Amino acid sequence: MIKIIKGFRDILPTDILLWQEVENIARKLFASFGFCEIRVPIMEKTELFARSIGADTDIVEKEMYTFADRKGEMLTLRPEATAGVVRAFIEHNLSHQDSVQKLFTMGPMFRRERPQKGRFRQFSQINAEFFGVAAPFADILVIELLHRLFDELKVTQVTARINSLGCPACRPAYKQALLEHLSGKMENLCENCCRRSATNPLRVLDCKSPSCIEAAKDAPAMREHLCDECSSHYRQVLDGLARQGVPFEQDDKLVRGLDYYTKTTFEFQTTMLGAQNAVAGGGRYDGLVAALGGPETPAVGFAVGQDRLIELLSAVKNPPPKGPDIFLACLGEKAALLGFDWMSSLCRQGIWAEMDYSSKSLKSQMKRADKSNARFVLMVGENEIKEGRALLRRMTASRDDTTGQEEITLDGNLVDTLIKKVAESSPAGGKG
Ligand SMILES: [Zn+2]
Ligand SMILES: [Zn+2]
Repeated sequence: MIKIIKGFRDILPTDILLWQEVENIARKLFASFGFCEIRVPIMEKTELFARSIGADTDIVEKEMYTFADRKGEMLTLRPEATAGVVRAFIEHNLSHQDSVQKLFTMGPMFRRERPQKGRFRQFSQINAEFFGVAAPFADILVIELLHRLFDELKVTQVTARINSLGCPACRPAYKQALLEHLSGKMENLCENCCRRSATNPLRVLDCKSPSCIEAAKDAPAMREHLCDECSSHYRQVLDGLARQGVPFEQDDKLVRGLDYYTKTTFEFQTTMLGAQNAVAGGGRYDGLVAALGGPETPAVGFAVGQDRLIELLSAVKNPPPKGPDIFLACLGEKAALLGFDWMSSLCRQGIWAEMDYSSKSLKSQMKRADKSNARFVLMVGENEIKEGRALLRRMTASRDDTTGQEEITLDGNLVDTLIKKVAESSPAGGKG
């Protein structure tokens, strides 16, 4: 038997409800914040990721699924969404239609990470990107949007952490100060940090290796080295978040793993899954569009790890299992034929109806209806057809409760009658 690829997973019908709920809530929220959906391919030219994410990042160095296609072109399964969205933004001249573009996308990403619990090599992200606004308003809006998303999902144990990474004007001097701080400690750094410290010493700040944490303990903070513009931008973002009622903490050690971030960077972290974990993150990337050949365009965005979010949600709630509105338990050939007609007619009119396709006993059909979480069961046999009446049973009623069932006339209005019964029993008065 052929098995699934290591690090990949199937999401089965029993687990899909939370995924759909998250996606529905996100879509609704994005729409009300004016974000439009964009869908880009899951595969791009390798060069796009190498140039945007940064050649000496973990992702590009060792985690990408990269291969040559039959003509020898190097292609990569996308490890994140921003690069592809930016490519599409440039390729379709989206800024010509409107210099301000708010976009979101959802879908699978691929990274060949070390296998560990809760980490998958195909994982899903929800991304939002806001192009064309350099003012702190854009940073505030996307961070607020992310905060509202967790709010709507009722995930409360999440903390927003914010930092500023400065800009090309002020970051070099900070890198220098950081290098000076690390200069006496180089031999203590982990292998990765040691190798990268010359080009990317900031990564030492968020390295999880104990010796790097120790080395970075009293390191100078970027916050204290920001130029006037970055400093004022950062201050306005923090003030704006406070005004919008978005709680946050400043975190001098937050640098994120991608090279393209400038100024504001943020992460939403939780301890609900054990150790401190990021469930979402993002930041401003004012230089990326131009670096990939587009017009100078300020931008800010975020990515939510959907797999981890689902894990969080399963920890706080179990959605009620969904089942058919009506199950048609039909005994005998004639009843099955009629039942099939009623079932398809109900389905056409937006009512989820099911039947038993075998000719099992009424008892076993009832068992199956119960197991499928059906709300109503209509029981039809030879006698019922002869008499033109059948019992409709409400499955939520207890077994001895006779008020839970009623007689229904099997006439030309049957389907309409059933639709009415379903509508009346829905909490919202309509289909749930
Ligand atoms: Zn600056
Ligand atoms: Zn390290």
